[in-house]
Amino acid sequence: MYKFGRKSKKRMVGLHPTLAFAVCEAIKLCKVDFGVTDGVRTIARQRKLVKQGKSKTYNSYHLYGLAIDLVPYIKGNYRWDNPSAFHDIAIAMKIVIHKYNLPIEWGLNKWGWDMPHWQMTGYRKKYDIRKIDPVRFA
Ligand SMILES: [Zn+2]
Repeated sequence: MYKFGRKSKKRMVGLHPTLAFAVCEAIKLCKVDFGVTDGVRTIARQRKLVKQGKSKTYNSYHLYGLAIDLVPYIKGNYRWDNPSAFHDIAIAMKIVIHKYNLPIEWGLNKWGWDMPHWQMTGYRKKYDIRKIDPVRFA
């Protein structure tokens, strides 16, 4: 059974709890080891990624803690060039998503690319925890 290292855990700070839960369950049953390369992004980082061609939007779910990138970690290195390992991650994620009926979708299924990417389904505003009104006491 694999578990996350310190950096992966740190990259989950600020993530929507449903997404964090799914990823923490998936690592336990995944056939390959994987890590978190991106969780919550700043707008500055998002701009940089678009410039580099690694992202196609300025309105990424990463900005809201609603997306995470999972990459195979093989022999001490992240491997973006291993589609079969990405599919092993997807098998584990989909088992968890199905088991708990979680509103999470895979970048590859959604857009036909972006194998590391997982995000909450639907309209992001319904998940934005910063938009929840604080409880008011009279
Ligand atoms: Zn992503």
